[in-house]
Amino acid sequence: MDFMLTEEQKVLQKKAREFAINEVLPVARKYDESEEFPLPVIKKAWEEKLLNLGIPKDYGGPGYGLIDSCLVVEEISSACPGMATSIFDNNLGSEPIVIGGNEEQKQRILTELINEFKLIAFATSEPTMGSDVAGMQCRALKDGEEYILNGNKFWITNGGYADYITVFATIDPEKKHKGIAAFIVDTKSEGVKLGKHIPKLGQRSSNTVSVGLKDVRIPKENVLAKPGRGFVLAMQTFAHTRPAIGAFAVGCARSAMEYSIDYAQKREAFGRQIGNYQVIQEKIANMYKDIEAARLLTYKAAWEADQGMDNNLSSSIAKAFASDVAMNVTTEAIQIFGGYGYLRTYPVEKLFRDSKLYQIYEGTSEIQRIVISRFVMKRYEHAMPFLGKKRN
Ligand SMILES: Cc1cc2nc3c(=O)[nH]c(=O)nc-3n(C[C@H](O)[C@H](O)[C@H](O)COP(=O)(O)OP(=O)(O)OC[C@H]3O[C@@H](n4cnc5c(N)ncnc54)[C@H](O)[C@@H]3O)c2cc1C
Repeated sequence: MDFMLTEEQKVLQKKAREFAINEVLPVARKYDESEEFPLPVIKKAWEEKLLNLGIPKDYGGPGYGLIDSCLVVEEISSACPGMATSIFDNNLGSEPIVIGGNEEQKQRILTELINEFKLIAFATSEPTMGSDVAGMQCRALKDGEEYILNGNKFWITNGGYADYITVFATIDPEKKHKGIAAFIVDTKSEGVKLGKHIPKLGQRSSNTVSVGLKDVRIPKENVLAKPGRGFVLAMQTFAHTRPAIGAFAVGCARSAMEYSIDYAQKREAFGRQIGNYQVIQEKIANMYKDIEAARLLTYKAAWEADQGMDNNLSSSIAKAFASDVAMNVTTEAIQIFGGYGYLRTYPVEKLFRDSKLYQIYEGTSEIQRIVISRFVMKRYEHAMPFLGKKRN
């Protein structure tokens, strides 16, 4: 077992930190206020090779493992969780192609994402369903070797600016997960309607839109997963992207902790720095301990993916744990700042708003706990002898 970063990873982490501090942090509040999409920052990330982190070297990408990607997104998220979400969204959009695409699709799309500044989004969710992926309604009708898509996708990150969207749709909603297929949709195709930005509580610099699909013809070469294979592809994708959500949450919580330490050492109450009070010290100790645990769980889930192991369980644990840590730490950060924490003048209120999303997107905290409890109740192997008779 080895908890050390390699020299290459340290260099990558430093590069990401410099990008976060020089390019992201100075404009984080501006984009939060305006809810504009930070296109120049995202383009700069592409130029700096910090977009498309997971695209393999065979297609011109950096070929980073998931631990490497987590190192990068923790840094960017520490400066602005919303921009981190938008920057990493190309990984979410392209991961189904990396995992399930054929060679021609990989050569065509992945190489294009590296050579040109293009955005690719990901769409399973719809206005009437998010958690229940197998319950999607968006229809895929087979027409010879092509498909025709009809339906509405909702909450699509970067959707308003995307060149491509990996869209999941069903040949028959009654078939549930067995009917789901996946497609590469060129957003310039006839029948694709990208909605207006939907205003949000936090992560306001990440663009979120609805996507309408009306008789959108998908050529044979853009069929990514045949019916029955799409659901598994979506789940495999989440297993590879949930650790990054854990890393986002760690970055967000880390900044809230750092601002808290700084404030606690400056603010005085009853004639002493508030950092001298044990109640405040306990809050900060809890922040540090929980962030450390969240980061280790995140690295474990990422490490398993990098080893080619099934990391479905560990990615759910990491995402659920780190999301709760970010929510708790940012809440406590506001508490340490007192009244000032509640003002928009200080950064902790933004981190508090931004952190809430981690408990919702890419599978809510409830859904992660369903994954975990399914394992614990059904497959976990007990070490101790059973009390009385063993269950069937
Ligand atoms: C800002 C933002 C960006 C997003 N980006 C994308 C994107 O790029 N692509 C995409 O496809 N989706 C995206 N999503 C959608 C996101 O993944 C869904 O919102 C999420 O999965 C929850 O789905 P829902 O909103 O439909 O809630 P629902 O599924 O309706 O759930 C509502 C509540 O019920 C709970 N619940 C549901 N089922 C159960 C159950 N079986 N047991 C216990 N509790 C349950 C949930 O945990 C939640 O608390 C985004 C969402 C947001 C807010």
